[in-house]
Amino acid sequence: MGAQIISGRDIADEIRAELKDRVAHLKEGSGVTPGLATVLVGENPASQMYVGMKNKAAADMGINSRQITLSVDTSEDELLGVVSGLNADPGIHGILVQLPLPDHIDEGKVLEAIHPSKDVDGFHPINVGRLATDSGDFFAPCTPAGVIEMLTRSGHDPSGKHVVVVGRSNIVGRPLAALLLRKAIGGNATVTVCHSLTVDLGSVTRSAEILIVAMGRPEMITAEMVAPGAIVIDVGTNRVDDPSRDKGYRVCGDVLFDEVAEVAEAISPVPGGVGPMTITMLLANTVKAASLRTTSG
Ligand code: NDP
Repeated sequence: MGAQIISGRDIADEIRAELKDRVAHLKEGSGVTPGLATVLVGENPASQMYVGMKNKAAADMGINSRQITLSVDTSEDELLGVVSGLNADPGIHGILVQLPLPDHIDEGKVLEAIHPSKDVDGFHPINVGRLATDSGDFFAPCTPAGVIEMLTRSGHDPSGKHVVVVGRSNIVGRPLAALLLRKAIGGNATVTVCHSLTVDLGSVTRSAEILIVAMGRPEMITAEMVAPGAIVIDVGTNRVDDPSRDKGYRVCGDVLFDEVAEVAEAISPVPGGVGPMTITMLLANTVKAASLRTTSG
């Protein structure tokens, strides 16, 4: 294998060390401790695990974390009331409502109820719109923001490059394309976005100098779909059956790693790639929210 490994774990550690310093400076300079509230409705085990990881990571950073756990039969109005209370709470700078929500609650309504200045997940239409128009202060969604950090910090600035993004979801592909198009560090790329109706996917992915894959299709991107010397970031996180493992499954990306690592110049692994960056960027957004609040009084 000749490719450079772009380790999300290492880059996340680097960013977390910087954030720890920024949190300490904020505390010393203005007496403000960033506060993150996570709201969990119901007992979905994966959601419980994600929220637990987010709170632990926040606490490790010196961020105050508050977890609000509500029963699965919480009404939409009750949840909106909780969000409204957090919007008004000066000790809370970031609010994260863990998705998915139970079916009887309108997710869009809840996400829109979070004040844009506390929307550290970056899903409020105001933040989405500011990112799309590259204007004003906004919070970028965490996974795409993490991908941009991985590229710039590993020496693969997308500026001027042809970047192909496979996937157009609102949480990964679309905001990633918008970040790559910005007139800013980490942007200025020529961007092509592919999806399930793209004809001859391989011919498009082969034209990429930087290929970013977020399809949710295990190991679908093979070596022949990647140009020699390309930079490959694999966002995919899939569980596939594997009776040889104790757990009975393994976690893999959307890229056939061993094969593609033979042709790419650099590649991110799964696990240990984009995954660790997502929570790190949530912490970064929370620290940014607290800093903005401090400077705006
Ligand atoms: P979605 O299912 O919402 O979107 C998948 C996208 O891939 C869609 O745009 C779909 O096209 C496109 N697609 C699916 N099949 C094909 C195909 N055969 N050819 C071309 N395009 C295709 O997934 P997400 O964006 O939420 O997530 C994508 C992956 O990233 C998943 O594996 C997910 O687990 C992972 N992920 C990882 C995160 C992390 O922190 N590491 C965070 C978020 C996601 P269409 O729009 O036409 O349906």
